[in-house]
Amino acid sequence: MDNNNYYNILLSVPTEGVYTYCYQGLIEIGQRVVVPFGKRTLTGIVIEKTTSQDFECKEILMVYDEKPLFSYTYINFLKQISSYYACPLGLVLHGLISEKLLNTELFETEDIPPCNQVNITLTENQKEIVESINIEKYSCHLIKGITGSGKTEIYQEVAKKVMAKGKQVLYIVPEISLTPQLIKRMGQRLGITPSVFHYKLTDKARKKNFIDFATGKSQFMLGARSALFIPAKNIGLIIVDEEHESSYKQDESPAYNLRDMAVLYGNLLNIPVILGSATPSIESLYNASINKYILHQLNDRPNSATLPEINIIDIKQHELIGSLIAEPIYNELCSVVKNDQQAILLLNRLGYATYLYCQQCGQVATCLNCSVGLITSKSKQKTFCRYCDTEYHKLTCSACGSSLFKEYGAGTEKVEEFLENMFPNKVIRIDTQSTSSFKTLDKNLKKFENKEANILIGTQIIAKGLHFPNVTFVGVLGIDNIIALPDFRAMEKVYQLLVQVAGRAGREHLSGKVFIQTSNPETFIFEMINNPDLEFYNWEIKRRKVTAYPPFTKLARLIFSYINQEECYLVAKIVYNNLKNICSSNVKIYSIKDAFLSKLQNKYRYEILIKSTSNSELNKTLIYAQQTFNKHKKGAMRLKIDKDPYFMM
Ligand code: ADP
Ligand code: ZN
Ligand code: ZN
Repeated sequence: MDNNNYYNILLSVPTEGVYTYCYQGLIEIGQRVVVPFGKRTLTGIVIEKTTSQDFECKEILMVYDEKPLFSYTYINFLKQISSYYACPLGLVLHGLISEKLLNTELFETEDIPPCNQVNITLTENQKEIVESINIEKYSCHLIKGITGSGKTEIYQEVAKKVMAKGKQVLYIVPEISLTPQLIKRMGQRLGITPSVFHYKLTDKARKKNFIDFATGKSQFMLGARSALFIPAKNIGLIIVDEEHESSYKQDESPAYNLRDMAVLYGNLLNIPVILGSATPSIESLYNASINKYILHQLNDRPNSATLPEINIIDIKQHELIGSLIAEPIYNELCSVVKNDQQAILLLNRLGYATYLYCQQCGQVATCLNCSVGLITSKSKQKTFCRYCDTEYHKLTCSACGSSLFKEYGAGTEKVEEFLENMFPNKVIRIDTQSTSSFKTLDKNLKKFENKEANILIGTQIIAKGLHFPNVTFVGVLGIDNIIALPDFRAMEKVYQLLVQVAGRAGREHLSGKVFIQTSNPETFIFEMINNPDLEFYNWEIKRRKVTAYPPFTKLARLIFSYINQEECYLVAKIVYNNLKNICSSNVKIYSIKDAFLSKLQNKYRYEILIKSTSNSELNKTLIYAQQTFNKHKKGAMRLKIDKDPYFMM
């Protein structure tokens, strides 16, 4: 007589991840257990009770908690992610909660201290929006409000209502905007210290905050995207700020979009979800237009600061000061410095020189591991690849063997150097190179906030959700390279970037000016950016419809990568041929092509694009692609399935 009970256990491993184990006692669904797995012991989640197996099952070594940490809804959420992204369940869990976090023991944590509460009075418009959000059930609200219009105050007000009912609130922001200033501001409005969650926390702090939110001790979590997957005890509201943000799309499997997952989870939990942005994504605006989301608009700033006008500067018509900056922008910088105001300059290129040419034959110096050109950094005194970080100390031309190179192009570092000469000690640079850690980023931001510098030069990261109250001028030095990208979202991205960065100017009592320098002033997008209404959206959505791109079709990319180019192509070809044979008429398989980076970190990359109007047909295709790949793959060959891709490159 078999006294055992049998359970299916989900493990945080990059495979299917569900295995059957036996146990003498009873365990509830959602409880954590410790099981033997090969030579290791791992923590897993009980996801199903099952019947006696005809093969020998290993025994569960230990049951972790007294009560389930994971709810039925949470487990269902994982299953839905798995099926939507055609990603095995184990790999889903592995991508969302590491084994290290999953095995966190529930220890007694310190109390969460209160904060001095500072209240404000909402405007009529804000109040109306707060009141229209029913906190008792699911609905998804899209708040489209110009930068500084008071969206954050709305989120906080709804959060307070939900917390007053004893429920928890999850507030998600892009990693970069999770600054101490924001944490402090939240605390002051809510009257309690928020828990925080992001990947730069120490292991200990991450575990503590995980426990606090999972056990319900913490009522308010301010986190980066990974916070969505903490199994909160009693969550009543999810807020996703800057919902259009590209960093919400996960690069590795499961390649989920945080915003979409927040909406799915809210729906499963039957709780409200709030998405906010000054420049909502085309998808979300479309969802609002078909009444999936409820759209709210805030078109004014409460402190009556006005939105700045955006001026386009044709660089063919003006002198380029230092061969970098169009004269009108340079003049504005002079006056900003003279009047001790502040300016932001956006340049979407890292480093000092952005190209190196061989002086003998003109060949561009490229990385040996990646199909991209090398760039230089003067401060770090190196020539390097921005994709794999390989440094090149002795450069020789791959075509002629010469070691003489000439530098071209200007990155943020070069502009910084030039400005530093013109305006000594008035310049700060922020980009991914200058801010390898949160600490230095914070230090630089504080410096700028404390007006220790007048000019901030940086890449896209300075346009994202940061609050600079004293900025009166914004200059955009390089946007043409993004406009030219072969990506159906290029226009959307440029529009969002320009409107976002422009929104950094004139946020408070001082009014702002925005200048964009370009060699293509007639580009259509520039006509759109001074219209605060939905004109850009209407134009773009028509274009998407005509060209059959999202949200009118679904896309997926299959990216094959392997160290051996021929073998990689061969397997991609097999998968391609198989898909061609089986796919139904509403699934379109595009021919194999080199991925945008045809070589990356020493691996060759091929891509197959798939389009379909049917989600289920698309998923069938993806699962079939994965199976075919698994059958034919060689060695460490990889297939990445990127559904709803955000970057087409
Ligand atoms: P957003 O999130 O839309 O960028 P915020 O909520 O950060 O806007 O508001 C911008 C600024 O205006 C903040 O300093 C905020 O405190 C202030 N503010 C917002 N709403 C009000 C209000 N009703 N009364 C006074 N100040 C407000
Ligand atoms: Zn490289
Ligand atoms: Zn050469």
